[in-house]
Amino acid sequence: MPELPEVEITVRRLSAAVTGATVESALAPGVNVMKTFEPPLEELAGRQLTAIRRVGKMPVVEFGDLALLVHLMSAGRLRVFDKRASAKDRASRVLVRLGEGRELRLREFGTKQRAWAKLLATGAVAEDEAVATLGPEAWPPPPLEAFAAAVDQPRHLHPLLRHQRDIAGIGRSWVDEILWEARLSPFKQGAELGGEEVESLHAALHVLGDAIDHYEQTIGPDLPDEPPMPLKVHKREGEPCPRCGTTIEAVYFAEHQTNYCPKEQTGGRVLKDRRLSRLLK
Ligand SMILES: [Zn+2]
Repeated sequence: MPELPEVEITVRRLSAAVTGATVESALAPGVNVMKTFEPPLEELAGRQLTAIRRVGKMPVVEFGDLALLVHLMSAGRLRVFDKRASAKDRASRVLVRLGEGRELRLREFGTKQRAWAKLLATGAVAEDEAVATLGPEAWPPPPLEAFAAAVDQPRHLHPLLRHQRDIAGIGRSWVDEILWEARLSPFKQGAELGGEEVESLHAALHVLGDAIDHYEQTIGPDLPDEPPMPLKVHKREGEPCPRCGTTIEAVYFAEHQTNYCPKEQTGGRVLKDRRLSRLLK
């Protein structure tokens, strides 16, 4: 599930690989992947790919005054290949064919088709609903005051920090790492945080920058579909906390889990699912 650090390394590597390339053709084999119809994707033919950047968890591929805004959702991946996709490749969603057989490809794994793209005027990307509604970027960290305002809400930190309209870029993996770094419970409410706790949480955003640095050192020009993520607590239930040695615990939800160190984050309390349901009432 690509979050801010994974999308950042993706756009950096893709940018180095394909900026300046000329588009031969572009098409969308994915049914319903394109959320815009005007201008059509064919408009990209003959254009130069001028930049690839990131907003929140979304890559933006620019072709002069047109831009492809991409939402990878959980299973989408953007990569460049040296050969064109087989027509039988059912993972293909959007194909941007470049010179010498190369292809920038949006693929999506699994059975669900959730990833989407919009072809927009480059100048209109910032006003698109998916972008205009984003909260401040989580990395580089926003000013402390802006961050404090973003999290000052009567909601649990775990969903709050993942809510892109409050702060952009964090998902189910990195939220656990940030909360662990800040020694805060995933079930503490944003509005309940004291000044020092807000400062700790803000300071903990450095884990996103550390992850980007890690990827810079470990990922070469060829992007893997699933880069090994340098996670310390997420999905590490049963392992010792890297800081204090206490066993990492988990709370399971329908589609995800949260992991935490009970000694350092919840005052020693182990939050089992039943207990959680009572807490949520
Ligand atoms: Zn610990």
